[in-house]
Amino acid sequence: MPEGHTVHRTAGEFRKKFQGREVAVTSPQGRFTDSVLIDQTKLLSASAWGKQLFLEFESATLRIHLGIYGKWRFESHEGELPEPRGQVRARFANTDYFADLRGPTACELVDADQLADVKSKLGPDPLRPDPKGEELERFVNRVAKSTSPIGQLLMNQNVLAGVGNVYRAELLFRARINPHRPGKALTREQIAGIWFDAVALMPLGVKTGLMLTREGFLKGRPKKDVRYYVYKREGLPCRECGSSVVIELMATRKLYYCAHCQK
Ligand SMILES: [Zn+2]
Repeated sequence: MPEGHTVHRTAGEFRKKFQGREVAVTSPQGRFTDSVLIDQTKLLSASAWGKQLFLEFESATLRIHLGIYGKWRFESHEGELPEPRGQVRARFANTDYFADLRGPTACELVDADQLADVKSKLGPDPLRPDPKGEELERFVNRVAKSTSPIGQLLMNQNVLAGVGNVYRAELLFRARINPHRPGKALTREQIAGIWFDAVALMPLGVKTGLMLTREGFLKGRPKKDVRYYVYKREGLPCRECGSSVVIELMATRKLYYCAHCQK
């Protein structure tokens, strides 16, 4: 499943290629019948919140969540549009570009109430502006009162929006925090530290498309085998202390950490 930086990149693509212009919206596969309600209207804005993408058209707002199987394809074109390949749920096109959406979990028009409802259930997103520190505060408060393990809280989209398995593992290693520690057992400084680290790291993901969590050590576009501290490195020596990186299941998702470094 894509992590939040990917969705923010998609929002950026829509802003660059479609915003402020009329968009032809169709559903080649036929399942997104509401496409007619936004077809040939102007895209006013595109934004991401965690793993949710919101496309605000003149006539209505479209909410998209890729889920596990969803995929985007953006391309430029001249003249006629190419035939859609496979099951394209929605196609967005203007005279220069098209974007094909396949296999999303959600692709639906939402009214103002539904939109407010979706947003009210989303935790703070480190990639969204937080000029007054309110989102930081919300995150810290939510974690500090929870008895759930921090490793699980970071994956909960109501607590922190956008973080998935890779950032979860890497943020906790960088903070030297054991994923099994309950939120309650952490200091407010530790919790805020995780937030600020995510705020610093995730924009690199938006910029490059790679989750670069060893910044400062690696330059350019490092290969996968050197990119992470602990993610998918089970059984390999920890980069800091040399003891074996551990893999476990936490709430059905794979969890990677160093039991020696992370206390
Ligand atoms: Zn270690």
